[in-house]
Amino acid sequence: MRYSALQVLWQGLTGNRGWKPVWRQPDPKPAYDIVIIGGGGHGLATAHYLARNHGLTNVAVLERGWLGSGNIGRNTTIVRADYSLPGNSEFYSHSLRLWEGLSRELNLNVMHSRRGTWRLFHSDGQRDEFARRGNAMLARGDDARLLGRAALRRHLPYLDFDNARFPIHGALWHPRGGTARHDAVAWGYARSADSRGVDLIQNCEVTGFDIRRGRVHGVRTTHGPIRAGKVGIAVAGHSSRVAALAGLRLPIESHVLQAFVTEGLKPVIDTVISFGMGHFYISQSDRGGLVFGGDLDFYPSYARRGSLPRQEQVMEAAMTLMPMIGKARVLRSWGGIMDMTPDGSPIIDATPVEGLYLSAGWCYGGFKAVPAGGEAFAHLLATGRPHPVAGRFRLDRFRFGRLIDEEGTGSQHNLH
Ligand SMILES: Cc1cc2nc3c(=O)[nH]c(=O)nc-3n(C[C@H](O)[C@H](O)[C@H](O)COP(=O)(O)OP(=O)(O)OC[C@H]3O[C@@H](n4cnc5c(N)ncnc54)[C@H](O)[C@@H]3O)c2cc1C
Repeated sequence: MRYSALQVLWQGLTGNRGWKPVWRQPDPKPAYDIVIIGGGGHGLATAHYLARNHGLTNVAVLERGWLGSGNIGRNTTIVRADYSLPGNSEFYSHSLRLWEGLSRELNLNVMHSRRGTWRLFHSDGQRDEFARRGNAMLARGDDARLLGRAALRRHLPYLDFDNARFPIHGALWHPRGGTARHDAVAWGYARSADSRGVDLIQNCEVTGFDIRRGRVHGVRTTHGPIRAGKVGIAVAGHSSRVAALAGLRLPIESHVLQAFVTEGLKPVIDTVISFGMGHFYISQSDRGGLVFGGDLDFYPSYARRGSLPRQEQVMEAAMTLMPMIGKARVLRSWGGIMDMTPDGSPIIDATPVEGLYLSAGWCYGGFKAVPAGGEAFAHLLATGRPHPVAGRFRLDRFRFGRLIDEEGTGSQHNLH
């Protein structure tokens, strides 16, 4: 069923009885050409691009819960392309371009909103770094502008510019950055993949691999064994656990990241604001809730809820940045499990097991990467070669020290 304004009108006039289920509920077949583990953003996008770009439809996505129950439905929905290093830069730039046509491509409104993102700076050194970053963005063909304090104050008058610890000196403005409706992204990719013949199998956990003579032949699941020509792992926070089932040890740690939403308010924040020094960022959802978050909890955990100390820190940062937020009441908070790599950049690569591929290490920035990540992983699975915009996301870069460390704070693996 194609969605359109006419369809909405017709269904409205006929009692809304004609809507069809958005995807099928198939039983798994005994064998597929490709099995993707994980029905999150990356797994579903990969299935869509396998079918759309490569004509491969004898594909199954195996999801241990329900589609979109992981981080794809738990994130704070920020989409941007403000990276500066080769590797990340071209990849996220490409992803943003895919976002800009995504609703049309999926025939489902993913509510991609180019409301702009602000990254605040508080010192001369930070301003220099943001100027360099902005120039890198411009050189790549994306948009960026550096604004000083007076100009920024006209846009965001409610910030506390004179905070004693972090006085605001200005910000890097990225007009094409913004937000999107996270679960609509999962639904859109799922619907498209399903309609092209991909089997989306929910409540089906992968519990092991069938590996013989260094090659994967299938997976063991809670629905029984399934044979596969190739297997792609796209399980985000569970990457190291699932890879361990295949005997692989990944350079990934799983950490909890929390998010918060307030009660619905009248429109007050029409952009995305990032206060890096306070590990705090905020936007306002279309339903009016202020959506915000902070840094990782730093207690390695697979529990999808957060600790109180981090909640206190996030609230303090919020009050430091915009004291007016003290009047809003927090409605709820939740956590998701992040697959953190040492350099903060992802991995899209073959593994040492023949036929077994990995899309992981999405850290806390993998939502904006979903379109390009899915396209690149599909390309790798279909052709065996890395996609041109994802060629540096190698698994062995940690062994050889070719890190893509956007913050410049990561450990130097080649030196230890
Ligand atoms: C609070 C929070 C805020 C965030 N904010 C942003 C943001 O603003 N912008 C941004 O770009 N990114 C953000 N992220 C990060 C982003 O959400 C993730 O990087 C991205 O969603 C991860 O990829 P995914 O969607 O495929 O993961 P998931 O949706 O987690 O998909 C993985 C799936 O694998 C399944 N799975 C696991 N093990 C198995 C198994 N054994 N068998 C079968 N299935 C299995 C899981 O159930 C899950 O559904 C945020 C994350 C969180 C938690």
